[in-house]
Parts: sequence; structure tokens; C-alpha cells
Amino acid sequence: MSETPTTVVWFRDDLRISDNPALHEAVLRGDPIVCLYVLDDESPGIRPIGGASRWWLHHSLESLAESLKAVGLTLTLRRGPAREVVTALVGDVGATRVLWNRRYGEVERGIDGDLKSSLREAGVEADSFQGSLLAEPWTVLTGQGGWYKVFSPFYRAVMARQTPRHPLPAPTVGDGLHHRTVATDALADWHLLPTSPTPDWAGGLRERWRPGETGAAERLDTFLTERVSHYVAEHDLPAEEGTSMLSPHLRWGEMSPFQFWHALDGHRARASADAEGAAAVLRQLIWREFSYHLLYHLPSITTQNMREEFDRFPWVDPSPAELERWQQGDTGIPLVDAGMRELWQTGIMHNRVRMVVASFLVKNLRVDWRVGEAWFWDTLVDADPAANALNWQWVAGSGPDAAPYFRVFNPELQASKFDKHGSYVNRYVPEAGTPAYPEPMVDLKESRRAALDAYASIRG
Ligand code: FAD
Repeated sequence: MSETPTTVVWFRDDLRISDNPALHEAVLRGDPIVCLYVLDDESPGIRPIGGASRWWLHHSLESLAESLKAVGLTLTLRRGPAREVVTALVGDVGATRVLWNRRYGEVERGIDGDLKSSLREAGVEADSFQGSLLAEPWTVLTGQGGWYKVFSPFYRAVMARQTPRHPLPAPTVGDGLHHRTVATDALADWHLLPTSPTPDWAGGLRERWRPGETGAAERLDTFLTERVSHYVAEHDLPAEEGTSMLSPHLRWGEMSPFQFWHALDGHRARASADAEGAAAVLRQLIWREFSYHLLYHLPSITTQNMREEFDRFPWVDPSPAELERWQQGDTGIPLVDAGMRELWQTGIMHNRVRMVVASFLVKNLRVDWRVGEAWFWDTLVDADPAANALNWQWVAGSGPDAAPYFRVFNPELQASKFDKHGSYVNRYVPEAGTPAYPEPMVDLKESRRAALDAYASIRG
């Protein structure tokens, strides 16, 4: 054991130094600090992150390392099953304390819980903090003590609580921090970036995004100064940058929901469109909380239909070529293709269009929602285990409080309402309407009818 008391701060979905309760606590104690990130794609049950997420993570870790360096700390990288890796590092440096911010997935909680017990048994202090959710799932319960299965009452319950705590400051050079130097992996050796230069699918990602805490703060600033007042009018228009675009930053914890909440709350107090916009975004932020609430109370949401009757649904197994047409944006339905190409090129897709492409897959093509969820998992930079599953189940009709199955989005109608001038479709599918563009892969009316017949067969 080392003579020097040492704190390990284990970073996970909280790649930031401001409003980071675990780091804040370590700074208060004043012992030397080891900042650790573990790439864990080996623990049993852990779902490896997808390609776009790997790209994001690489850059986010670079950014975190820079922020830490600026205040006198270094980032240590290790790879392997998290429990074993953290235990070994604690032994190597003779750490006396390990701190982290909580996560809410079942497998992750299992790892963290086991680790906490074994560290404490070994005489090492181990503590966890609330950093990634405003309302931890076990603290929001119905009058009967159960958990919420429907969004609106959950939203009301969260809003009726005390104002969330104010964000914590980032450490500064003045805190006189010192770090312990520990052997670290080289980030490049993790090969998180695409290895083959062609096709360079990350080009669009580089253009669109700046992963990391500074990029997140800039986006929040732009949103609040330029866009929040248009949010109510424009959030449903995919051609506009009408929403915050903060989802990947929230997913990776480069900005905490507490920071977002308080930034919005300041605007809620104002008159007019700013206040309306801020209140509407805040409601969306509570959807994020709701998805984690469900993930915690019903972990099977990521893989199982919440409504059991959907276990009998006659899904169609698509051929690889058919599936590829949807994935690559070659269905012959312009709005669907625009969305799928936006996703492939930029790692993101507008929420309205996500609903349309998902509905097209699970209803017009009658493909199991899990197939679509997996594609989104691989290609979205905001791929999030809770929000992705909840939203896919919502569109499929198999989730709680979901859009009823018989609500089949009509992509043509959606385009005429939300992309009136065709600017969004034109941006991604310029050949739509020309002979170069394929015929629709299914007839929208017929496939809708077939979907409703299939649904009728599982009811009752
Ligand atoms: P804003 O409108 O600015 O909203 C602010 C924040 O609220 C978002 O950053 C996000 O954190 C949260 N939020 C907004 N809408 C939702 C929602 N419906 N559910 C949960 N949280 C929400 N969102 C993800 O973060 N990760 C996913 O993997 C994901 N998969 C989806 C899959 C499908 C099929 C659908 C229909 C939606 C999915 N969403 C997912 C929700 C939503 O599309 C994105 O959160 C939103 O488009 C992000 O853009 P924004 O940050 O500009 O949102």
C-alpha cells in the first residue's frame, strides 16, 4: 500500500469537469487524484457501443484529458472488464478512496454495486453520486409507491419536486490539485476511430460536431441566445436547426442535466417566446429522465416488448437487401430516405423524422423494432440505451404510454406538413422526383392495411 492517501475518480457517462459531483468531492478532500476511464466491452452483459459512439467517445476523451490537464490532472485510460480493472488499479496505486457518479442500467449497477462492496470490504472508501439524472428513478414514485408507466404524471411529479441543485463549479488551477502518475493506455491504441479511410464516414461527423465539454457549452449558448425563442414554432421542422442539438452531449455527460435545467430555468422566468421555448425544452429533458426511470424499473425494456401481446406479432424478416434499402436511405420514399441519409452522414436525425423512419420500418415494412433500434445504436452519436429503446417501443406501439399501433405515420403527409418547401428532402435526396430515384419499395396504402391486419391478429 502507498503511504499517500489517493483518490480514484472513475469517469463513465460524465465526461466533464464542471458539475461533476465525484470529481468535486475528490477536490474537496485534497488528496492526490487518479482520473480513470475504463473502456469496458468485456463485462458479461455489457452492450458494446456502436461505431458513431466510438467516434464520439474518442474525441470526448481527448477533450476531457485537455480539461483535466488545464487544472493539473491527468486522464488514465484502461481497458477491460471494469470491476477487475478498477480493483487492479486501486491495488497498484494503493488508493484509499474511489468515487464515481451513478449509472442506471441493470448490468452497470450490478458491476458498480459489487465493486463498492468489495472495495469497502478491503478497507477502501467507495462512494457514488448523483450526476446524470435530475430525479433518480427510486425517488419518483406514485402515491401507491409504484413507478410511473405513463409520462404525463411522471412529468408532473418531477416538476412538483424541489428545484434541482445548482451546478457545481469546475476545479481550477487555484485548487492546487496534484495527480498520481499511473501507466495509461494510449487512446489511439483503442482504435475507436474508423480504421479504413474509404468510405470516410466520419467526415460528416467531424463537420457537424465538436465533442467535449467546450463544444457542449458553446451549443447551449447558441441555443439560448439564438434559438430557444423559436423552439415552439420550429422544433418540428427538420430543415431548421430548431432544437438544442444537445442530445449527444447529454448522452456522454459533457453537460449535466442540472446545467441544462438551470440554464433553461433562467429563461423560463422571462416573458414571451423565450419562456415558452424553455418550458417546452425542459419537458423534453424530462422525457430523458422518464426513459431512465423505465430502464431502471424495467431493465428488459431494451430487448423485450413491454406489451406482451406484441410477442405474438407477425414481424416480417427482411432480406439483407431490403433492410439495406432502409438503412442506406434508398426506399423510394423521400422523407424516409432523407432521414436515413442524414443519420448516416451526420450521426444524428431530427426527432420528427426519427418517428417517421421508425414507423415506416415497423409498420409499412413490418420489421421488428429491435432491428431498427440496433441500427440506430450503431449509427447515432446520441445512441442511448434508455431513450433509444423507449422511443422505438413508443413508435412500435409495444411500449407503455405508446403511440397506438394503428397510428401509422404517412411519410408523404408528414413531409407536406413539416417540410413544406422540400428543403430538408432536397438537402439529402436531391434526385427525388427524377428518373434516377427508385420507385417506393412498398405501396404506402397497402402496407398500412397489412400492418393493421397484422395488429388485429394479436389483439384480444
Ligand atoms: P431537444 O428537442 O433540444 O430536446 C432536449 C433534450 O431532451 C434532448 O437533447 C434529449 O436529451 C431530450 N429528449 C428530447 N426528446 C426526447 C425523447 N423523445 N426521448 C428521450 N429524451 C428526449 N434520443 C437520445 O438521446 N438517444 C437516442 O438513442 C434516441 N433514439 C431515438 C429513437 C427514436 C426511434 C426516436 C423517435 C427518438 C429517439 N430519441 C433519442 C429522442 C429524440 O429524437 C432526441 O433526443 C432528439 O432528437 C435530440 O435532439 P435535441 O437534442 O436537439 O433535442
